Amino acid sequence: MAVERSGAGAALLLAAALAHAAPAHQHGVAQVDAVLDGAVLTVSLSLPLDSLLGFERAPRSAAEKQAAAAVVERLRTEALLVQPDPAAGCVREAVEIASSALGLGSAPGGAADEHADIDAGFRFRCADPARLGHVELGLMKAWPRLSRIEAQLAGARSQARQVLRRPATRLAWPR
Ligand SMILES: [Zn+2]
Repeated sequence: MAVERSGAGAALLLAAALAHAAPAHQHGVAQVDAVLDGAVLTVSLSLPLDSLLGFERAPRSAAEKQAAAAVVERLRTEALLVQPDPAAGCVREAVEIASSALGLGSAPGGAADEHADIDAGFRFRCADPARLGHVELGLMKAWPRLSRIEAQLAGARSQARQVLRRPATRLAWPR
């Protein structure tokens, strides 16, 4: 899968999504904000660093740096983490990752804060967006310390809030 890693469009996408979501930080809880606008599906994640890495600060040892790099690589490349309904024919166009603790992107939040997140924005272009019935999330499979996903979904005509608890993986798209 071809992924444009950090175009200006992707950076704008993530900044807009973060400003919109402004999620609360809770360990074990992933915040998801998904918007379908025409043919473009945007899915923004805010993940507590503690739940992915077991620490919430800049990595220190070589092992911590390696673990952090592996998380970032997984978010960039693993299609199963965020998988729109195949019926809609969505192709991933861009991924943007930001985390102030990891020195990535321009994520909000000061270094003095005891908590830290990693944010990821995904943009898809869908051939048949009207057929989007769900979005499958592999986040809780990938990271066992995540136990809940709190999602806000916005479709063409309606919006919905949904909470997924392990082992649920599927967000139903609002009609
Ligand atoms: Zn925390």
